[in-house]
Order: sequence, then C-alpha cells, then structure tokens
Amino acid sequence: MTAPRQPIELREFPRPDLPEGAVLLKTSLSEVCGTDVHLWHGRLAGVPYPIIPGHVSAGVVDAARGAVTGIDGSQVREGDRVVFFDVHRTCGRCRACTVHRTPTRCSSRRVYGITDSANEGLFGGWAQAIYLEPGVAIARLPEAVSLDDYIGGGCGLLTAVHIAERAEIRLGDSVVVQGAGAVGLSAIALARIAGASPIIAIGAPASRLALARGMGADVILDLAATTNGERRQLVFEATHGEGADVVIEAAGSAAAIPEGLDLARVGGRYVIAGHYTDVGDSSINAHQQINRKHLEIRGCWGSEARHFLRALSILERHPSIPFRSIGGRRYALHQLNDALGDAEAMRIPKALVDPWQ
Ligand SMILES: [Zn+2]
Ligand SMILES: [Zn+2]
Repeated sequence: MTAPRQPIELREFPRPDLPEGAVLLKTSLSEVCGTDVHLWHGRLAGVPYPIIPGHVSAGVVDAARGAVTGIDGSQVREGDRVVFFDVHRTCGRCRACTVHRTPTRCSSRRVYGITDSANEGLFGGWAQAIYLEPGVAIARLPEAVSLDDYIGGGCGLLTAVHIAERAEIRLGDSVVVQGAGAVGLSAIALARIAGASPIIAIGAPASRLALARGMGADVILDLAATTNGERRQLVFEATHGEGADVVIEAAGSAAAIPEGLDLARVGGRYVIAGHYTDVGDSSINAHQQINRKHLEIRGCWGSEARHFLRALSILERHPSIPFRSIGGRRYALHQLNDALGDAEAMRIPKALVDPWQ
C-alpha cells in the first residue's frame, strides 16, 4: 500500500538476513479488516507509507536464527505452525508502560502492517513471507485451532478479549453490544463465555446480525429497521425495565455514543472500543446520561500480549464458536484491491488473504 487511495502494488523484496533471535515466516493466511480500510482511506495518523498491511497473520517457520522461545514457553523451530502478536517494541520503561500501566499507549509501540514501513522490510501479512524481528511475541498455533478460526477471530478477537476485561462482565450480567463487525461479533462470543445473559446485539446489515446470532446473541436489533426509541424500549423490556448492566460500543459511529449511554442502567458500565478513528463529536447530556446515572465509562485501546495468549486459549477451548464465519472469502495478492473494496462496502466482515493462492 504505497499511499492512501492508491491501488495496491505488488513488489519483490530480498530475502532478509536474520539476526540472532529473528524468525522468517512463510505466510499461511492473513486478513483484511476494518483497520486496513481505514489505512487505505488515510484515516490513521502516523502511518509510514509504503506499508505491507496485514497485521494479524499466521504462518510456518521457514527459518529461525539461534534459540527463539515463544511467549507460550515453546521453542520456535523450523516447520512449526505459529502466530505472533502484531504489537512490538513496547518499551517497558516509559511512564505509560511503568507508572500508568497502560502499555497500549506506549509511544515506542509499533504494529505490524500498520506502523511499520515497507522500506524497513517484510513487516506485514500481505506477503509471502513475514520477518519477525527479535523480541516479537510468537506462539505456537494450537493443533486444534484451524487457520480459518484464528484469522476469522483475528484482531477483532484480541480487541474483544481486552474489552471483556475492561467490561468486567459477571455471571448473569445483561450486555448490549453495539456493532456487528469483527470486534462486536467477538465481543458477543466472549460475553457468552463470561456468563452474560441476555446478550443484545445492535447492528446491520442482516447478514451480520445472522452472524451475531451464531456467535451467541440472544436478541438481535436491526439498526436499519428500528428507530432509536424502539431499540431503547426493546432493551429495557429485556432488562427488567432498567437498561443493561454493561454496554459495549464496537460500532465506530458518533451516534452510537448517546444511544449507548441511554441503554446502560443506572450504575452500569459503558466500554467504548469502536472509535479507533476520529468520526467526530457525539452530543451527550452529562446530567441525564452520566452524572445522575452514576455511570462508569471506560475506553479500551488496542491489546496486550496477554490478550493475544488468552485469545489462543479461547480458540482452543471453544471450537464450537464459529469464528471462521467472520472471515469472508479468500483473496490472492493480486486480488487485494477487490478485497479492500468488499471490506469497504461491508459485503464481508473480514477478508482472508492467502498470498500463495
Ligand atoms: Zn513504553
Ligand atoms: Zn485488523
């Protein structure tokens, strides 16, 4: 991706020399997600174009230099089927990392496929090989987890693990999830695992709401077929006339915020995770929607290595959750412009990239 709004170019790169502790992956599968569409639209700040997008990917170890230990404790060897945490170079020394314990806000942090320039090498999954520099968190993909489930969950699942942590969902909590994209769908599945009931999904189009049902939503509210007032009434009817214990925003629209504030019960919690790009101001009434409600509002930015490892455990322990259904069709490298177009038009929640197809 040479620049925003430009067609994707295919380029050849030299095979990198591996320093001690580095790994070269032969890419098996990567993804095109909403973030890639934002990158293509030039909506993210500080992106060093040209980049090789594809931040969550899986592959087979082609070469490893020296002894490399995975974050799961395994020895990384040639031929292993592995995955890696796309966030790297989190410093562990700055104030965000140490004093505030918010490492997802570390200013040294870089992300494969997003903030790593292609001028530095193979730092993205839309390629036949990925260079894993020393220090990147690598883990073996459990035998029982298919590539389609891992990439279908992908970045949305990692974000949702962090959301579930921030939301502190308790057994029997009623949960509203705003948005039925990759993040919202995974959040629904995790709310289910956490023991939430009922789980109410708000989104569109109908195809995504069908996926939401498959991921574990008890109630489906079609954004396009209901008014704000109707949705509020339906949520209150499902929650003893009170509103939800927890509301999760994974919609990324300014209008979702005042609605989400209204759907949370008095003393409830609202986790905002979908505003990954600036979509503008939301209009709220602090007296009615926050102060008088004694409401707790939490932001959720990015994910950490522990969310990555927990996502792997969830995939291994819950094979019945159809994460694979989030992934749409597979695209070859020469079809990436089509993949971006399909993701942009929301024809699919997520496209899979097979660079050897
Ligand atoms: Zn730091
Ligand atoms: Zn993504």
